[in-house]
Amino acid sequence: MPPPQLAPVVARAPLFPSVILLLVGLLAGPASARAAEAVVRVQIIPDAPSARITVLGPCRIIDLAGRTVVSTLPQLRWQEIRPRAEGIQVGRSVIRSRRVQIAPAGDWLIAVNGVRYRGALNIIRLDDSYLQLISEMPLEEYLKGVVPTEIDHRWPLETLKAQAIVARTFTRRQVADRAGHDFDVTKVWPQLYGGLPAERSRAAEAVEATRGRVLMFEGHLLPAYYHTVCGGHTEDASRVWPAIQQAPLRGVPCHYCQRAPHGHWRFEMSEEEVGQRLQRLGLGGRPVMGLTVVARDASGRVTTVAVESTQGTSCVSSVQLRAVLGPNRLRSTNFVIAHPDSRWVFQGSGWGHGVGLCQWGAARLGQQRQTAAQILAYYYPGAELVEWPRP
Ligand SMILES: [Zn+2]
Repeated sequence: MPPPQLAPVVARAPLFPSVILLLVGLLAGPASARAAEAVVRVQIIPDAPSARITVLGPCRIIDLAGRTVVSTLPQLRWQEIRPRAEGIQVGRSVIRSRRVQIAPAGDWLIAVNGVRYRGALNIIRLDDSYLQLISEMPLEEYLKGVVPTEIDHRWPLETLKAQAIVARTFTRRQVADRAGHDFDVTKVWPQLYGGLPAERSRAAEAVEATRGRVLMFEGHLLPAYYHTVCGGHTEDASRVWPAIQQAPLRGVPCHYCQRAPHGHWRFEMSEEEVGQRLQRLGLGGRPVMGLTVVARDASGRVTTVAVESTQGTSCVSSVQLRAVLGPNRLRSTNFVIAHPDSRWVFQGSGWGHGVGLCQWGAARLGQQRQTAAQILAYYYPGAELVEWPRP
């Protein structure tokens, strides 16, 4: 299904916010203004020997270990940060701490090696040679960089709103699970975060229109998984992750993604390569003489494949098989296997684990004038759409 061809409107955050916004930010103070807002910590560089930092407005340097403000500066221009034996160097100063935050006032942005980020920057000294850099920003701002990266911002607004709610729910759970860690997410895990360059006005509108809304089930945040295209039926989450046994994630038929590009696929792999890859699972010896689907679940997806080799026959789960052959080649667990000559041929439908919301199906439902609430009720039956935190 081709997406509606609406003209993309690029909305990039200004590097120089208005004087009014700056004054409001300074008067209110970033900490008090954002105290009630959930934040997300995004790892942007896992290990950097040094970096250059720019903030074109007032900012504070905070020792996160002692929770004290070390200094307040009118601005930082292309200042180098690097690890030192006694702490972290910022410009010409060395802060005697393993964890430092640079917090711009109000809505001023911080640039790291020339790339702009919202919120504050956490600098963690890993050892004498490397720093870890983490962008800490309000959850809603983070979502504005996720939604247009995960789906096409030209899709129907109600589809974008459904995606925003699902991404918010997923992130809330992630933040709760990662409380004891230095960061909650990275730029690619568990969702794609494109940052400021990826932001688009329609996606931002969808985030704003659904601000704070999440999916709950039996009093807890739902593990709101989503995927590109299901291929006809969404998957029972417990088939992929046995610990997840929740009614809204048992899978539903989906006839809305039939015309999605990449909905049907085919790939080939040589006998030799299949054998090599299966050996990573400790299975069989080369060559692999037989690959046979032995069980499918109610959605039609393969659950178990028998592997026949010179060392006998073993069984492998389709989830393991997908991981070892490559999840972007064996795009889903809904496939058939053929062996015409010295190659193994896989043909299937769907892309992704198939659990929860089917993005291409949601696009079609949006085109059919379904609301975000209706789209979510379809893919997560029984889940409750609520404001978080509850009033
Ligand atoms: Zn679908």
